[in-house]
Amino acid sequence: MVVTPTSAAYGRDNPRLLGRCPEKCSGLRVWAETFEPPVLGKERSTENVYIFGERPILSTGSGDLVLYLKCVHGAGSRIQQAQPTMTLHDKFGRQITDLRISITDRCNFRCVYCRSADPENYRDHDEILSWPELDRLAKIFLSLGIRKIRITGGEPLVRDGVEDYLARLHSVGVEDLSMTTNGHLLAERCDRLIAAGLRRINISLDSLDADKFERITRTKSFATVMHSIATAQRSRLAPAKVNAVLVRGINDDEVEAFASYARETGVIMRFIEFMPLDADRHWTRSLVVPAAEVHQRIHDRWPLEQIPHERSETARKYRFADGAPGEIGLIAPVTQPFCGHCSRIRLTADGKLRTCLFSKDDHDLRSLLREGASDEDLVTYIGSVVMEKEEGHRINEPGFVQPSRTMVFIGG
Ligand code: SAM
Ligand code: SF4
Repeated sequence: MVVTPTSAAYGRDNPRLLGRCPEKCSGLRVWAETFEPPVLGKERSTENVYIFGERPILSTGSGDLVLYLKCVHGAGSRIQQAQPTMTLHDKFGRQITDLRISITDRCNFRCVYCRSADPENYRDHDEILSWPELDRLAKIFLSLGIRKIRITGGEPLVRDGVEDYLARLHSVGVEDLSMTTNGHLLAERCDRLIAAGLRRINISLDSLDADKFERITRTKSFATVMHSIATAQRSRLAPAKVNAVLVRGINDDEVEAFASYARETGVIMRFIEFMPLDADRHWTRSLVVPAAEVHQRIHDRWPLEQIPHERSETARKYRFADGAPGEIGLIAPVTQPFCGHCSRIRLTADGKLRTCLFSKDDHDLRSLLREGASDEDLVTYIGSVVMEKEEGHRINEPGFVQPSRTMVFIGG
């Protein structure tokens, strides 16, 4: 195995490429064996750590560590001694590497499963974190081992300055920069976003029927969003992830149409179970379309093959067995919760840290920032909050209480 770390240390500077096995063992799969109890990446055991993904995320906890990397065919190599760096862990041993940052609570859509049709109830501008505050927090989170940042909202593209913010995140070393958007303002800004460092995009699309789309989103934006998806598909953001929240009786008749759209366009079509995070409090279990049903329906028409995924990933991924382009992703937080491997935390637009979408409480970073907390204070606070991350959500337990914050305020 050829090992080509990009820097002598890895901790803050992860190697971009660890190595490739001449035996074709699918890309960068390696075993990492340590003589210390490993605190590495997302998979752990006492002896071996199986790291996979295009860019293995290696973090070292504290103390020096020497890694011996071997691929499944036995080719091995020794990698440098690691520099100590800090990582975020919770009390269940999960390492937190992904941060979703909501940069605004405003939105130009009013999706029925998210916002209310009622008048605006946005927070005042001064309640929302400023760009300098967001910059400072991003650096602190990076120093704590956050490697993936997804920008979300509200609708992130309604806030001026997104491209500059992305460029700053990119320049301080965020490796994996992505965004979730409703697509309304995407087409015209796609090139600038990419130039700023955006690498992946999720675009919401809840119907392929213009009238229905407009009823769901309460806009007239169907054609604009379709154009944005096509633009993203022609760009280096391809393949775009297209997200549909299925709601029984509204758009669940379109499962096959969405799958067909993926086959025609090559997008990754992702079906998300409706979660109890809607402003109108209309969610009931009977409105949830289980991912298993979606899988069965598509599989009956076009057989699907599962694609391996990282355990912390939200989506179960499938390709079409007949080799057609496109992928299917199933996100089943209600019927098949994936909390056991969750690596995510969220920062709301008004500066609250949330350790789970369904947290009952959030944690006020904005006050700390504005009261003059030092970086060390913030690191300590964030570490203590993350340590108490919930083991899992309780949607399926009796007495579940819908969080007071809805999706548009939390950031999906
Ligand atoms: N405005 C952008 C958008 O719609 O893509 C980003 C923010 S939105 C809150 C992020 C994601 O949350 C979207 O994919 C949206 O479909 C999803 N979402 C919103 N409310 C939801 C709900 N109640 N259940 C499941 N997903 C939801
Ligand atoms: Fe806005 Fe996104 Fe919520 Fe729709 S899902 S109302 S686009 S924040």
